[in-house]
Amino acid sequence: MKISGRILGLGAAALALGLAAPVAAQSLGDQVQKQMPSLMDIYKDLHAHPELSFMEVRSAGILAAEARKLGFTVTEKVGGTGIVAVMKNGPGPVVLVRADMDGLPVTEQTGLPGASTVRVTTKEGVETGVMHACGHDTHMTAWIGVARLMAANKRQWSGTLVMIGQPAEERGAGARMMLADGLYTRFPKPEYAIAFHDAAQFPAGMIGYTPGYALANVDSVDVTVKGLGGHGAYPQATKDPIVLASRIVTALQTLVAREISPLDSGVVTVGSFHAGAKHNIIPDEAKLQLTVRSYTDEVRTQLLDGIARIAKGEAIAAGMPEDRMPTISVAKDEYTPSVFNTPEFTEEMAAFLKTGFGDQRVVQMPPVMGGEDFSRYGREDKTIKSLILWVGGVPQAEYDAAKKEGRTLPSLHSPFWAPDAPAVISTATEALASMAMKLMPKG
Ligand SMILES: [Zn+2]
Ligand SMILES: [Zn+2]
Repeated sequence: MKISGRILGLGAAALALGLAAPVAAQSLGDQVQKQMPSLMDIYKDLHAHPELSFMEVRSAGILAAEARKLGFTVTEKVGGTGIVAVMKNGPGPVVLVRADMDGLPVTEQTGLPGASTVRVTTKEGVETGVMHACGHDTHMTAWIGVARLMAANKRQWSGTLVMIGQPAEERGAGARMMLADGLYTRFPKPEYAIAFHDAAQFPAGMIGYTPGYALANVDSVDVTVKGLGGHGAYPQATKDPIVLASRIVTALQTLVAREISPLDSGVVTVGSFHAGAKHNIIPDEAKLQLTVRSYTDEVRTQLLDGIARIAKGEAIAAGMPEDRMPTISVAKDEYTPSVFNTPEFTEEMAAFLKTGFGDQRVVQMPPVMGGEDFSRYGREDKTIKSLILWVGGVPQAEYDAAKKEGRTLPSLHSPFWAPDAPAVISTATEALASMAMKLMPKG
């Protein structure tokens, strides 16, 4: 898609900030367009070389080298493979700009030139393709674009820019690890944290914003349902864990339907149910894997407590002895807290973006039940104002065709996800750089 609108040129931005307009300044949009050939080379390289969570060494190296060239002070290996690039440019606020870097264990099937052919064997011993199926390659490329713009326009802003390349977003771990490794103590602590995520459900070049809750609390829960195994022909001599686990699965449906307020949001999905090996054997165990989603901490607690209560209650109803109660484990390391975009700050930034991109391109989006650990940068200290934007990635022609034919579009994480990368990268670069400059006005 050809992008027509442009965010405030530097002249207009300077006027909006109460400054004298620089003579013959190039608009930010024009500066982005000049960078695009080089940024697309970087994008193609990152896309062809995706790395799984905690293994983003090459990607981090590319970001670090670019930032160093631009005059940032760069620290590597923060929270594993994370990087922190700081540019101090006079008095003023501290603004954090984040990109995540990891790819996914997905074998790319877009059939496009430049598709990833990377294959790895995971720590679990599974051989898999690797793909930037969540578009983190567009995030990293725009990050470089923002770094270039901020360095080139240093005379237009005053403050401290902290740009971070975060590992392991897909494992819900990277943000936590960077914070635990001193992101807010070893480096300037931000007053504002901003980022974007590419979006697979609306057209390329659109910007979406969601004030307040935007993405969900995500918990992974394992339930091991114990039974007493035996011959399939003699159920009276057994306690069948398949029947018990089935009852648990059914009863879990009442948590969202009957226990939380209809005005709150929640999801309890049993995504995996494994038991048994043969027709005529009653196994002694069944294993369930759940994803549990919510926005508020209260609903999260209610759902997790409810799962434990229902599992135990059904086991008692099935006559299981006390020492064969189900065990429940919540994967604390993979918990992703819900994203809460600071409402007034979000509205303020959306209004600002509309002045540059136009009302048509900047639209409010409903919250979704996906997860993003960007949430942690704002949760760590509630005085930090944070906002993650969506930037649409679906090629316009494909969006129109899918709508006409009633087809669903490939989602993020799909092996077929092929964003209009130039539109995503140019839009995000311009949006994030203009926001950072707006937040760090000169004088
Ligand atoms: Zn993802
Ligand atoms: Zn993602």
